[in-house]
Amino acid sequence: MNNVLKMREHAYIANTYNRFDVALKYGNGVIVVDDEGKEYLDFTSGIGVCGLGHSFEPWVKATTKQLKDIEHTSNLFYTEPMVDVAEKLCKAAKLEKVFFANSGAEANEGAIKAARKYAFDIYKGDRSEIITLKNSFHGRTISTLSATGQDSFHQFFDPFTPGFVYVEANNFEELASAINSKTLAIMVEVVQGEGGVIPLAETYLQAIQDICDHKDILFIVDEVQTGMGRTGSLFAYMQYGLKPDIVTCAKGLGNGLPIGAVLLGDKVEDIFEKGDHGSTFGANPVSCAGANVVMDYMNDSLYSNVIKMGDLLVTKLKEIPQVVQVDGLGLMLGIEIDASIAAREVVEACIEKGLLILTAKNRLRLLPPLVITDKHIEKAVKILADVLASKAKG
Ligand SMILES: *Cc1c(COP(=O)(O)O)cnc(C)c1O
Repeated sequence: MNNVLKMREHAYIANTYNRFDVALKYGNGVIVVDDEGKEYLDFTSGIGVCGLGHSFEPWVKATTKQLKDIEHTSNLFYTEPMVDVAEKLCKAAKLEKVFFANSGAEANEGAIKAARKYAFDIYKGDRSEIITLKNSFHGRTISTLSATGQDSFHQFFDPFTPGFVYVEANNFEELASAINSKTLAIMVEVVQGEGGVIPLAETYLQAIQDICDHKDILFIVDEVQTGMGRTGSLFAYMQYGLKPDIVTCAKGLGNGLPIGAVLLGDKVEDIFEKGDHGSTFGANPVSCAGANVVMDYMNDSLYSNVIKMGDLLVTKLKEIPQVVQVDGLGLMLGIEIDASIAAREVVEACIEKGLLILTAKNRLRLLPPLVITDKHIEKAVKILADVLASKAKG
């Protein structure tokens, strides 16, 4: 890549990201192109964002039209795109109301605030604890870092927001014994994305639903990564017959424009009153115009492609000798590889051969666009298999 660009980035941008040596310039569908004209198959979708692919024509049309009409208004006024997205989300998720934010972390902040306000209103502040899972990931703000059940995220930035309790995922006894009179909510990802793509067991999810129903504990599902068709349904919780009180989404909702949403069920639909929460950029009309297009493509034909392509990927990946295990749901897959091979090196070698993939912990992670075909899968798996074979040889 252009070395001058790399040096300027180093000079002027905070050191938070360990970027790969690629400068991307164009995107179209499943393909992205770098500054030297080299093409890559994008099996990252910008970390689960561009589910409909890059520069998706109807999305480009809708967002550029909105850009020309009006780019921003603030929430002091009504606009049509936000109401359209909210109505589509509520009807599809069978939830009541939406608060719009700009990112996943902010959506989760909104969920935490809604839950705490419920505890304040109904339980007069006697309930102060939210149970989250070990190995979870809920965002990078101070409170969502607090909610994240991984010690490695609880460094440097003290004091963290109090009121979070962590339990082992898929261990219902531990969860049951952590619940007490202070418990106000349980917050989970149906598939732990950043934690390595680890799905929660169906029986565990249903047990959470039961205990929440019995004790009036709010069930919060973080669908920031799993939502918007990624797992083969609009939201992953729908595949387990769950009825969460609060659902958050973000990544795939805007197909590339920043947007997050907190979906509120009937217990909490009116918990926020005027002035309780807000966001200058929330419900931005351009982001919402993009999200409206995304919602219009959330249908059975897309979901069945996700399930079919996900199954095909899993089958093909399992044929690779260095692949130990494949976990996930739909087109959200985590690959455990031979312990002697470093995941980061595999990603770098795949990039060299024209395939973009991700890591999650020490696993490889695939989040391809939801519109991929078997041809894309064949090509990607061939590259990955070649890379893993060459790494195995040393
Ligand atoms: C990515 C992610 C977040 C954080 O989203 P940002 O938009 O980066 O703030 C929160 N929860 C889950 C499950 C995520 O995957």
